[in-house]
Amino acid sequence: MESDGRKDMSYNGARVIRVPKNYGRVNFSRDELRQILISVVAMTAIFTIFFYSTVNSWGDVGSTDALLITIGISALAVVLGFLIHELGHKVVAQRYGAWAEFRMYPMGFVLGFITAFLGFLFIAPGAVYIQGQVTKKQYGRISIAGPLTNVVIGSIFLGLWMVFDTGILGNSLNMLAVLSLFLAVFNLLPVPPFDGSKVLKWSLPVYVMFGAVAIFLLLVAWGIISF
Ligand SMILES: [Zn+2]
Repeated sequence: MESDGRKDMSYNGARVIRVPKNYGRVNFSRDELRQILISVVAMTAIFTIFFYSTVNSWGDVGSTDALLITIGISALAVVLGFLIHELGHKVVAQRYGAWAEFRMYPMGFVLGFITAFLGFLFIAPGAVYIQGQVTKKQYGRISIAGPLTNVVIGSIFLGLWMVFDTGILGNSLNMLAVLSLFLAVFNLLPVPPFDGSKVLKWSLPVYVMFGAVAIFLLLVAWGIISF
């Protein structure tokens, strides 16, 4: 059979729709990678400012060591708590064929630095923007993917903390468990623009069950529920 341009465009007379090469695949733009890198560095700095006095109060370490430990915990918390959360949304959205890219909010970091110096923490680092045709169920799954990563990672730190529960290691593991699980619960608030509002729109039973598990694990990490 001969192959001309027309043959390629039709199959048994039906029109063929061209699908972009990277449809359904995970990919990053240069600008997005740059914004992710800036966000990770800025948030690590904000967490370090906020948590330094707590880590310093654990005792048995000099102030330089306390600073290094705080930077380590902060970087881990940001990569595992924030970055993996956002990638969770992005990967699921792109697998469903949507366009999905992270964009930072520079003002969110300014607010983060100010509040960290004042002794409390409020950061709005940015969000994954999604464009494309997805069903309500798919959108719900895209939305729960972020908090789900926090619950999985938080559970791992919680388990490790139950084994190694003393000293600086124990305190660090507990701090990472609390941070991960707190991020899950916070993002599950049932009001826009939080993930919780979109999960709730998709399924009340999923929202209630997942929310209950996240809150329960956070209370265990906080020591309010103990065995
Ligand atoms: Zn999220």
